[in-house]
Amino acid sequence: MLKGKTALVTGSTSGIGLGIALALARQGASIVLNGFGDTEGPKAQVEALGVKAAYHGADMSKAAEIGDMMTFCAAQFGRVDILINNAGIQHVAPIESFPPERWDAIIAINLTSAFHTTRLALPAMQQANWGRIINVASTHGLVASAQKSAYVASKHGIVGLTKVTALENATTGITCNAICPGWVLTPLVQKQVDARASEQGISNEEAQKQLLAEKEPSLQFTTAAELGELAVFFCSPAANNVRGVAWNMDGGWVAQ
Ligand code: NAD
Repeated sequence: MLKGKTALVTGSTSGIGLGIALALARQGASIVLNGFGDTEGPKAQVEALGVKAAYHGADMSKAAEIGDMMTFCAAQFGRVDILINNAGIQHVAPIESFPPERWDAIIAINLTSAFHTTRLALPAMQQANWGRIINVASTHGLVASAQKSAYVASKHGIVGLTKVTALENATTGITCNAICPGWVLTPLVQKQVDARASEQGISNEEAQKQLLAEKEPSLQFTTAAELGELAVFFCSPAANNVRGVAWNMDGGWVAQ
């Protein structure tokens, strides 16, 4: 379905981004990976699906590096047809002791980076009259939790950016939508599980159960593979007129 298209997935060396990259690769898209840590493993996983893969190590908190990455994508593949704004970080603390530099980093990586990639990807999409922009927000783009001020602000912000991007391109073949996962057991969430286990002197398994019980009626983690299939749907012709939605996949979290 996506043969001939190129997808840039930010923060795709791990977790949800990698799951989405693999799902798009299964549909035949060429993939540009981005993120830190092991890059060769994820690249090999994508290539094993028979598609082209490239990697750019832009730090998503730095506008100039994001610009370099977009130029790199154009040079390698012509243009970005599918933009997945996924890179994200978390920090958990009450507002009065929230480190200002953590606030700045979260807003830069979770929100401002998507503004930069979107503004740089749109002209070529507009010329081609086709594009898909998918912002990985969160249930925290729809509802709040204590101790996550920067994260919740960034995710509400990206839901707003999603709607504006969708509206400004509403008469074109470019759609923009947000995905709002509940708990997904990635390194980002494992840190929160570890913190809970050590604070309360409980096992990893018990800490996972508590985390789910507080928020997710299904008592199950959403998986990166499931989120990948939702991204594939947004890229399909059936989703041509799905514009500006924030679609939660969250085990019932925000239904409560
Ligand atoms: P993760 O930690 O597994 O992956 C994050 C990715 O972003 C990694 O590839 C990492 O290298 C990359 N990254 C981090 N800082 C970066 C930077 N400055 N520049 C470039 N890349 C950077 O986390 P994840 O859980 O897969 O999170 C992915 C997205 O999904 C985030 O936006 C997160 O907020 C969102 N999300 C996660 C959950 C969850 O439960 N895990 C729930 C809702 C939303």
